[in-house]
Amino acid sequence: MASERFAGRVALVSGGGRGIGRAVAEALAAEGARVAVLARSRAQVDEVAAATGGLGVCADVADADAVQEAVLQVRAELGPPTLVVAAAGISPVRQRAEAHDAAAFASIMDVNVDGAFNLCRAAAPGLLLNGGSVVLVASTTALRASPRIAGYGASKAAVVHLGGTLARVWADRGVRVNSVCPGYVETEMTETMLAVPHLREGILAETPLGRLGTLDDVVQPTLFLLSDAASYVTGAVLPVDGGMAT
Ligand code: NAD
Repeated sequence: MASERFAGRVALVSGGGRGIGRAVAEALAAEGARVAVLARSRAQVDEVAAATGGLGVCADVADADAVQEAVLQVRAELGPPTLVVAAAGISPVRQRAEAHDAAAFASIMDVNVDGAFNLCRAAAPGLLLNGGSVVLVASTTALRASPRIAGYGASKAAVVHLGGTLARVWADRGVRVNSVCPGYVETEMTETMLAVPHLREGILAETPLGRLGTLDDVVQPTLFLLSDAASYVTGAVLPVDGGMAT
C-alpha cells in the first residue's frame, strides 16, 4: 500500500509543469497531498493537474503580483499551501564569465532568485499561520563554481542564502526551510548540453558516483525534507549530486 505521508496537506510546486518540479508534484500527490503546480505554460499545468487530480495555475515567478494572484487562487480552491517547493528555474546560457550576456544574467536572477522569493513571500501568510515546510531547488553549482554558467551559479548560491534566512526567520512559526542542490539530471533544461558527448563525459568525470542523477534521486530527498521525518532539519543545504560538490 502506498505511503500517505502527505494526506490532508496542500502543496504548491513552482516549475511543476515538467522536469524535476513535475516529478515532485506527482510524488506528493501519490502520497496523499492535494497539489497545485505553478508554471508559465497553461498546457503544461493543465496536463499535470489532470495527472495528479490537483490544480494548475499560470504565472511567471519573476512577476511578484502574478505569483500573489496565483497563490490566492490556490488558497481559494485547495486551501493555504503548507508544503512549498520552488523548482521553477532557467539556465539559458553557457558562456565564459567575462562574456556572459548581461541581459541573460539579469533574467536568470529574476527567475531563479526573485522567483523563489516571490513564491515564498506569497505563501508566507498561510505558512506562518499554519506551519509548514519549504524546499528550494538550488543546484550543486551553488556550492562549487562551474565554468560558463556564472549567472546560474550565482543565482543558485543566492537561493541557498535565501533559504537560510527564511529558515531562521520562520523557525519560531513552525516553518522549516531547506535547500536541495541537484547535480545533473536529464530534463528539457539539460538535454541539449548533455547531448554533446564531451560535455556529458566531463560531467560524469566530475561526479564521484559516476552517473547522472535521475528524477527520483532528487524527488526522494525533497520529500524527506518536506516530511515530518525531517522535523528537526531546517536551514539545511543538501547536495543531491553524486558527490560533485565535494
Ligand atoms: P525544466 O526546464 O525541465 O523545468 C522548469 C520548469 O520551470 C518548467 O515547468 C517551466 O515552465 C518552469 N519555469 C521556468 N521559468 C519559469 C518562470 N519564469 N515562471 C514560472 N515557471 C517557470 O527544468 P528542470 O531541469 O526540471 O529544473 C527544475 C529546477 O531544478 C530548476 O530550478 C533548475 O535550476 C534546478 N536544477 C536542475 C538540474 C538539472 O540537471 N536538470 C540540476 C540542478 C538544479
